[in-house]
Formats: sequence, structure tokens, C-alpha cells
Amino acid sequence: MKKVLLLTTGGTIASKPGENGLSPAIGSEELLTFVPELSEICRVETMQLYHLDSTNIGPRQWVGIAEAIRERCGDYDGFVITHGTDTMAYTAAALSYLIQNPDKPIVLTGSQKSIYNRDTDARNNLLRAFLYASSDQAWGVQLVFDSKVILGTRARKVRSKSFNAFSSIDYPETAVFRDMKLIPFLPKPAYRQPPRFDTKLDEKVFLLRLLPGMNGDIFDFLIPCYNGLIIEGFGMGGLPTLDKSLLKGLERWTRSGGLTVFSTQVQHEGSDLSIYEVGRVAKALPGVLEAHDMTPEAVVTKLMWALGQAAGQAEARRLFSTPVQFDLI
Ligand code: ASP
Repeated sequence: MKKVLLLTTGGTIASKPGENGLSPAIGSEELLTFVPELSEICRVETMQLYHLDSTNIGPRQWVGIAEAIRERCGDYDGFVITHGTDTMAYTAAALSYLIQNPDKPIVLTGSQKSIYNRDTDARNNLLRAFLYASSDQAWGVQLVFDSKVILGTRARKVRSKSFNAFSSIDYPETAVFRDMKLIPFLPKPAYRQPPRFDTKLDEKVFLLRLLPGMNGDIFDFLIPCYNGLIIEGFGMGGLPTLDKSLLKGLERWTRSGGLTVFSTQVQHEGSDLSIYEVGRVAKALPGVLEAHDMTPEAVVTKLMWALGQAAGQAEARRLFSTPVQFDLI
């Protein structure tokens, strides 16, 4: 029987109603008592890492989770991480960069309703997360939710209330569950490199969502505070050119040593700066990168990772542009 470590971090799945609203209050051992069937699937050990609503989870906790897995990698066949749904896609993407070529499956799950709720989705999600983590066909960093298995670099929360909260953006799901049966769609890749754990992230990354009529003064606020900037443009991406203030601001940002990635506000199919004049103007700026079809969560966490690892801008650009765990197709 496989041995799986449950790492709990909080979220709705572990929440109880209190005087000030729902907040995480259920310990990792207590969580297990809701799924007694698990004893027939795998041997489970638990570790309570955090007790947080995932709104409070960020780079420090992503590194904490990666370190907890690194230290215990030899002792388990797989890992299940319970996590709030709100930022689960960020954590899944961050772990995909911090832990590359993992030789054990790393599975994130959570729920839209507390495990105490009578009509909860928590039991189903938890059970399937363990089924996946203990399957011989499991691989990589994946999110298991509402019977879907989604790559960590491709997951997005697309519904705030329904059980089918997550989608795999512009890439097939890795697998689905039909009842308790796992139906894999994407085979385990043959990793050519051994597992690699990184623990450095540069948190000084800003995401700027362009608005029609936005002024370029914003760059003067960003220059002293950030090293990386993602500009989420319209459609296939680009910069407004009628009013030159954004272009001039971006030139000041670039001269000051900031790294820029262009992406799009559109959920599907990604950016392409080569088509329109407004796109080509952006692409012509020295050193800018393009997100193409990466999810926003993947772009943010990959830029933090690339800036955290690299000795200089050229290296950060190379790391960002190299596909990791199917994030760039
Ligand atoms: N606010 C909760 C969280 O992300 C929502 C959830 O888990 O569904 O921690």
C-alpha cells in the first residue's frame, strides 16, 4: 500500500463557522476522520503546515510547502495538499516552478463548502485527491477538483460558488474520475532530469491591468518598488499609441532595469504581439517578454521564480521563456 503525506494549509475545506464568519479551524487529523474509506486506498500521515484562508497564502508559504515536500520526499509515494480555493491556482503554479521533474505526485485539493456542511464537495475532492496521489499513473503537480485532474500550470478558478470551480485553460485535463475510476488523458512524461527543488522567489513583481485611457505616470510609482512587471493588455496584447505617455513610461521603467512581460486580459488563446501595430510597438521595446498562452497565475509565479533564480536579466529572460510543465505551448 502506498504511503501519502497530507499537508494541510487551511481553506474552506478545513473551516468552521465562527462569530466573524468562516475560518480555518479543523486540524489535519480531524479532516481525515471524514474520509474513513481512505484506509483502503493508502497509508496516510499528516502534517498541519498552516491554518490560513488562502487569501493569506503567498510566496512565503509556497516556499514553505516546497521545503516541507523536499525534506520528506524520500519517505512518501505522494503528497496531498489541502488548500483554500481562492489562491490554489497560484500555489499550484508556484509549486510547478519550485519543484520541477518531481518523481512523486503533488496534488492540491480543497472545496467550495466546508467538510462540516451537509452538501459539501470536500469528501469527494479529498478522496479523489488521495486516489490520484496513490495511483501508478499519477505525476507532476496537479490540482484535483470536482473529478478533474488539472496541471498546476494550467489551472484557474473560474467559478466562485459552484463545485466545478476550476478549469484547465487552453490545455487538456490530465485525467478525470468517473465515479472512483481514474481515466488518464495525458501520460506521465519521461522526465530527463532528476527532481529539482528551488526556494528562491523574487516577490517584487507587479501586475498592471491596462484600462482604456490609462496614464503612464503609474510607472514612476512602480520603478522604485518592483523588478518585474506584467502588463495585461487587451485582445492579443499591446500598448496604446495615440497618447504616448504609457510608451514613454515603459521606456523609463525599462531603462531603470525593470523586466516586462506582455500578456492579455482575455482568458483563452493568449497574446500575440506580432499581429497589430499596437502589439509590434510593445514587442520592439528592448528585452520585453511575451506570456503567449500562459495563465496569469503561471505568468506571475514564473516571473517571481525566474527573477529569484537568475543572476541577471538575460538569465531571467531565458528561464521565463523556457517551457516548464506544459505552461507554454
Ligand atoms: N476563502 C477560502 C480560501 O480560499 C475559499 C475556499 O477555500 O473555497 O481559503
